[in-house]
Amino acid sequence: MSIKSLIRTIPDYPKKGIMFRDITTLFEDADGLRDVIDSFAAEFQDKKIDMIAGIEARGFVIGPAVALALGVGFVTIRKKGKLPAETIGVEYELEYGSDVIEIHKDAIKPGSRVLVMDDLIATGGTALAAIELIEKVGAEVAACAFIIDLPDLGGAKKIRDRGVEEFHLVEFE
Ligand code: 5GP
Repeated sequence: MSIKSLIRTIPDYPKKGIMFRDITTLFEDADGLRDVIDSFAAEFQDKKIDMIAGIEARGFVIGPAVALALGVGFVTIRKKGKLPAETIGVEYELEYGSDVIEIHKDAIKPGSRVLVMDDLIATGGTALAAIELIEKVGAEVAACAFIIDLPDLGGAKKIRDRGVEEFHLVEFE
């Protein structure tokens, strides 16, 4: 089965009117999981990636597997208050209110080329905050990669307009 057909859609989750794209069914399928990781590894193996940064929480599922395939390390970008050592944070807007993501200050060597990974890009708010975070610690975002892009919400375009490469495996309207 194709990657797209292994993604389940849950209507009205987490609230009415939202079509939630559920990737748990994709990860449960051995061939689907391998396809996802192999596709990312093939795309980035020659792009001189030094480290992968995964965004909590679904970026933690794909990021380490791709890091192993590329032979690089993995760093977590977490919601506020979860990391034990000294952190740097970036605040970003949500539909209602705002949130903060953080990274350990010493997690990435300055000048490193970092691949940011998450399961899905919608408005791009989360990924743009992650880019800012990586740049704050003195590293460079080589690219942002997602399983799913929702092009109608414009996030992928915002990443590209910021001059950062954007890559995704499938799109949903
Ligand atoms: P954005 O900041 O681009 O608007 O939203 C992206 C973030 O919300 C990602 O961290 C992603 O995991 C989560 N997200 C939003 N909608 C969905 C969805 O339909 N399915 C999944 N799996 N994650 C979603």
